[in-house]
Amino acid sequence: MGDGRTRGKPLVLVASPFQGHMTPMLQLGSVLHSKGFSITIVHTKLNSPDPSNHPEFTFLPLFDNFLAIDASANFTKFCEVLNNNCKMQLQDHLTRKIKEGKEANDEMNQRITIIHDNIMYFVEEVASNLNLPSIVFRSSSASYMPAFLALPKLHAQGQLPVQDSMLQKLVPELYPLRYKDLPFNKTSTELAKEMFALAEHIRAPSAIIWNTIDFLEHSVLTKLRQHYKIPIFAIGPLNEMARGPSTSFLKEDTDCISWLDKQAPKSVIYVSLGSLATMNESELAETAWGLANSKQPFLWVVRPGSVNGSEWIEFLPEGFTEQVKGRGLVLKWAPQKEVLAHYAVGVFWSHCGWNSTLESISEGVPMICQPWMGDQCVNSRYLCYVWKVGLELENLERKVIANAIRRLLVDDEGKEMRQRAISMKEKAKYALCKGGSSFNSLNNLVEFILARF
Ligand code: UDP
Repeated sequence: MGDGRTRGKPLVLVASPFQGHMTPMLQLGSVLHSKGFSITIVHTKLNSPDPSNHPEFTFLPLFDNFLAIDASANFTKFCEVLNNNCKMQLQDHLTRKIKEGKEANDEMNQRITIIHDNIMYFVEEVASNLNLPSIVFRSSSASYMPAFLALPKLHAQGQLPVQDSMLQKLVPELYPLRYKDLPFNKTSTELAKEMFALAEHIRAPSAIIWNTIDFLEHSVLTKLRQHYKIPIFAIGPLNEMARGPSTSFLKEDTDCISWLDKQAPKSVIYVSLGSLATMNESELAETAWGLANSKQPFLWVVRPGSVNGSEWIEFLPEGFTEQVKGRGLVLKWAPQKEVLAHYAVGVFWSHCGWNSTLESISEGVPMICQPWMGDQCVNSRYLCYVWKVGLELENLERKVIANAIRRLLVDDEGKEMRQRAISMKEKAKYALCKGGSSFNSLNNLVEFILARF
């Protein structure tokens, strides 16, 4: 537990209510706790983490006044209200803590460091009001950032939303990205403007913690260090650094593991599009028939409500269930890390969310890439074109799907890709070992925090 200098020193981690952000934030908390720090997790009432899974943390809920995240609604507005609703609550809490520290002559409790999710940008203002150090935590890929930062210019040049004729062309200055890989390439001008407005809220923090690995994104991390002119600590993959209890908001269906136990090694395709992506009825039907026609075993996560207008799987095409009987399993939410680590899983068909990407890399599982929005488009390009451990799904059509599945599960192409994925897994493991890049970066982060106490 650390080297004594960190013991009990307070870190306040402010999480946001998105699954893909909460999970790595809790993992970061576990990692820093193992270094000796005392951890408070500040979270919204919406999508609260389960405190019983983390007796080592103190939890502070903030009342956000939301009942759910509506992925189709105005994201910027959601973030704005969320930030406004949480600001004074956190400021009052920390003011009280500091006052108590002063009264008790407890120097330590007057020097709190705050680490916050980039979406919870209100924290920068609170930290500045209270004269506390703050660090931003980013749970997306680093490669997404240059693309995101370039959007206003591309927008001003009239290049957004991207015309069909431009989709396959390379974007100047953003190699290897094509226009189709740009985050929000298909979105309306209005939404693009909203996203830029959100970026303006993000002030300069004192440092950035990135859930990534240096060897994956070395050159872009170098560019970002030059751009931000502050320390950037690449300490991922956090899913490997902190193998803790479940952090899922939805109940994990663990029965699928005994089903996987009965399958042959590397024979199953695992399909999951994360916690937010949605699809329409015809996309559901193409996915279903693609899986059926591939003739391969599959584990398919269909989140309740993820098919527009449905509760769960009532729109599955007629005849599908009979055709795949005994060969496939449809479930509401999987224990994904366990699934990817299972010997029976040969391929991951993913939306390429950054956590899913890192989890797949950590287990050496090649991917079929079907990005939905935002950083997923960038991640998909890196997986397929740069790291060569992913196959881009060109179209969501049953023939294309069945063909892609067979290419990776049955053909030699899949075997070669798995070899590359396995060597990436080894490199990722090495980064966490003594002397590895993430190991060193984490120690540097600890020193950085200590220097501010
Ligand atoms: N996940 C899971 N079970 C599922 C689907 C997803 O546990 O059935 C987890 C997955 O392991 C990952 C997170 O949910 O940690 C999704 O995060 P990601 O960044 O991949 O995508 P997002 O949900 O943010 O789009």
